[in-house]
Amino acid sequence: MEQEDWKERYKSLSEEMEVLQAQLDDRSLEHLICQMAVALDGHSTVLDRALVTLCKQLKAAEETPPETIQLVEKQLRGLDIEQQRNNKELLQGLHKWVHQLRLNLTTDLSNQRLLGVESSIEPFSGQASQVSGVVNQLVDIQGPLLEGGLSDGFKQAAVVEDLDHHDDEILKQIGSELLIVMTSLNAPQGEMPRVRELTRRIEGGVTLVSLSSIIQDVVSLVASLSSQNSEDFESYLRNLTGQLAEVQAFVEASQKDEQVGGEVAILSNGIHQDVQAIQQAVLASKDLNQLKSNVSSQLLNIVKSVDLFKQKEEDREKRVHERYLQMNTRLEQMEEETQHMKVHVEAERQKAMTDALTSLPNRAGYDEQVSAEFERWTRYKHSFSLAVADLDLFKRINDTYGHQAGDKVLRLIASILSKQSRSTDFVARYGGEEFVILMPGTSAEQASLAVDKIRKAVEKSPFNFHGQPVQITLSLGIAEVREDDSIEGLFSRADKALYKAKELGRNRIEQG
Ligand code: GH3
Ligand code: MG
Ligand code: MG
Repeated sequence: MEQEDWKERYKSLSEEMEVLQAQLDDRSLEHLICQMAVALDGHSTVLDRALVTLCKQLKAAEETPPETIQLVEKQLRGLDIEQQRNNKELLQGLHKWVHQLRLNLTTDLSNQRLLGVESSIEPFSGQASQVSGVVNQLVDIQGPLLEGGLSDGFKQAAVVEDLDHHDDEILKQIGSELLIVMTSLNAPQGEMPRVRELTRRIEGGVTLVSLSSIIQDVVSLVASLSSQNSEDFESYLRNLTGQLAEVQAFVEASQKDEQVGGEVAILSNGIHQDVQAIQQAVLASKDLNQLKSNVSSQLLNIVKSVDLFKQKEEDREKRVHERYLQMNTRLEQMEEETQHMKVHVEAERQKAMTDALTSLPNRAGYDEQVSAEFERWTRYKHSFSLAVADLDLFKRINDTYGHQAGDKVLRLIASILSKQSRSTDFVARYGGEEFVILMPGTSAEQASLAVDKIRKAVEKSPFNFHGQPVQITLSLGIAEVREDDSIEGLFSRADKALYKAKELGRNRIEQG
């Protein structure tokens, strides 16, 4: 380190200059200034130029301008400040050096020498003699340390010499690690040749030259298999999603069946939990095989739930079917009972409309039949006639031969009326010893002719009571239905005609 003691030199030069200034001529002053310019050259460009200018002016015996002197003085002051800063940095550097040496020194002797040097640093003048003394001593102390370091370095160099052998070990280690990677790859059949070829290359030995390309190929193979696994995974998930959608559809369809709401709710909850477990498995699984295993067990649960549900459904359907058969049998019984009841009711109805003594329709039967005829007349203008027949002086029969004899007469008369009437005619016992005959499609005249045969048949009937023949006759009144007629009006006209026949001597027919 070159340390210029410029201040000292300047000071001494200045003093010399002052002493000699008066004695020396201009040439001497010029010579001194020029020497000073050479001595200070390099500290400051501005100072260099100012000193050169001053020197030239002196050489040219020109009068030196005061500003040149001021510039030189200013620059010299600047050099002083810079020198102080440099000294400070130098001092810090020396202390740092001492500190580093202390950390590395191992002998007490060296430490004592270092303490001695450290105490000689301060007070620090920055003079070259002080600095060079300190530096030389520090270099002496540091010497053995550097030799020791170099010694270690030589040892390392020996290791470096052994590096080739070490490299082989590392490369073998890398090779065996790569082989483990290769065997752990879950490669599909199509990728096996590629895996085998790469395995052969690794087994052939990994060298520093081949290492890079082998690792690149392994990485590329793993990436390729990983993407294939990913495709497998996606296709598996798609398949799984499809299966779950089917299960969901089944559950929803079953839920619509109102009969099985409870069972479906249980099944649905179970499946919901299993599906949630699958979703968690999908999130938690790190590889496809683990996921498949997790999902398979969950799907097995779903299948078991569905099987159980189906079993319960079959049992339920069986029970429902049995109930259906029972209900069907009961329904058939009810239909039979209903049919029986209908017949019974009809029989009762017929009975209600049939006269018990003569088995002819009674008054109710007549009412129903005359209504139907009148309806046909009203709607289709199918004309009909009504005949009202009354046994003549029947009271005497009862009175003479008894009521039972009277009944027998009534039955015989009823039989004659039925037999003598046309099949389309309707004969009923209106009440007591009165009968009515409805004759569809028959005018009053035609009716008169028809009932006259009846009258004659009755007249000719041989009634015997206690061995005595008894004459039975009947009188008839006839009326034909008219426009704006009514059932009552029709009957009334026939009845009036009947009374007329009675009045005119009985055993005859009159038209109303
Ligand atoms: P007419 O020629 O004026 O009709 O004289 P009639 O005696 O037939 O008439 P009446 O009205 O005076 O008497 C009817 C009788 O018919 C009275 C009753 O004893 C009898 N009679 C009514 N219904 C029955 C019955 O169901 N059985 C019997 N045995 N007689 C009956
Ligand atoms: Mg009568
Ligand atoms: Mg009578």
